[in-house]
Amino acid sequence: MPRVAVVGGGLVGALVFHRLSLSGADVHLLERHRLGMGATGVSGGVVRCFDDDPETAWRNAIGWRFFRQLARQPGSGVRFQPAGFLYFPALDRAPAARHLAGELSRELPVTWLTPDLLRARFGHLLADTSPGAVWEPASGYVAPVAMVQAVVAAGRAAGGQVWEGTEVHAVERDGAQITGVRTTAGVLDADAVVLAAGARTAPLLDALGVEHDLHTRVIQVDLCAVGGVTGHPAFIDDLYDLHGRGDPASGSVYLGHPTGLRDAPCGPQPLDAAQTVRTLRAGAARFAWTSGVRPHGGVRSAECYTAGRTLPARSVPGFPALITAAGLNGAGIRLGPWVADETARVLAGVLTTTRGSVAR
Ligand SMILES: Cc1cc2nc3c(=O)[nH]c(=O)nc-3n(C[C@H](O)[C@H](O)[C@H](O)COP(=O)(O)OP(=O)(O)OC[C@H]3O[C@@H](n4cnc5c(N)ncnc54)[C@H](O)[C@@H]3O)c2cc1C
Repeated sequence: MPRVAVVGGGLVGALVFHRLSLSGADVHLLERHRLGMGATGVSGGVVRCFDDDPETAWRNAIGWRFFRQLARQPGSGVRFQPAGFLYFPALDRAPAARHLAGELSRELPVTWLTPDLLRARFGHLLADTSPGAVWEPASGYVAPVAMVQAVVAAGRAAGGQVWEGTEVHAVERDGAQITGVRTTAGVLDADAVVLAAGARTAPLLDALGVEHDLHTRVIQVDLCAVGGVTGHPAFIDDLYDLHGRGDPASGSVYLGHPTGLRDAPCGPQPLDAAQTVRTLRAGAARFAWTSGVRPHGGVRSAECYTAGRTLPARSVPGFPALITAAGLNGAGIRLGPWVADETARVLAGVLTTTRGSVAR
């Protein structure tokens, strides 16, 4: 049976590990620190279907179905919070968004709300209802670290092996053939390697001399105490560049606005107060609750992006048995299940031509 080494125990690596373990492969998950401590550990966990790129929307839907199904399984220990999701398109994209919402509504609970319908339903939250919004009543969010633990436990039960506290220093190869990974615990032989190391994937590709366009961007999300506001849906707003969700546990709303910062060091970072001011200013254009709001913390971390050349769940050019599962552009939670399926599909093609097969 071919052996696959998955590098990185964030949600993406955990889902790949889970997917391959359940299909009977000999899978090893290697995590330098502890599971779920990268971008996954600070993520809002919003899982929704809509994206103004139809292909991405259908990929998101795979994640939405996966997480809802997992949460329904007795004893899974994870929850899917159906807080609802609103997507506000930019003005010039509104007709296309409305059209795509109509297409998706044939298979998914996705609908378009006109500004009047938005006012009637969410008028207590919104200062501006233009240009209307896509509404997903059955979308929401998950707790990403709990998800990591749940899928890793299931993968372990299916025979997968987990190496926490084991850092991968390099991918080993013999010409174009992948032979394993060099780690702090020695060399692990493997027929294929999946790089799911988030923001730390780029150095592993650099060491192999592989050209890529992976880079980091900084995401900051401020936690805003909003007394009296309940049932706040998750949201993406392309008109005012906002994203976030409610946090019922603290009576607050997570509110994010692009920092514009690239190539930052990996891992969590202290909040930038000037960014908080920019975020609240942008938020005031959309939300009624931002006046007098009290920011009280939040999260700030580097996330792995690609400009589109280094696609996730693809073989690295020149190394068929080396797959990148990184560069999720701020969408790794909802896209993770699609990445896992696609990685299994690509590996099945690659490994049948070598020593065996990773079942689909
Ligand atoms: C503030 C914030 C909010 C977000 N909100 C959402 C959201 O609402 N919905 C959504 O879909 N996405 C969201 N995202 C994006 C999403 O969280 C990420 O895309 C996703 O968590 C990436 O998961 P990952 O497993 O690829 O990377 P990570 O979670 O970063 O995991 C990579 C892991 O690899 C390990 N690792 C690194 N190098 C090595 C090595 N050499 N050897 C062994 N292990 C290694 C790290 O320790 C880490 O555990 C958000 C991101 C941020 C920063």
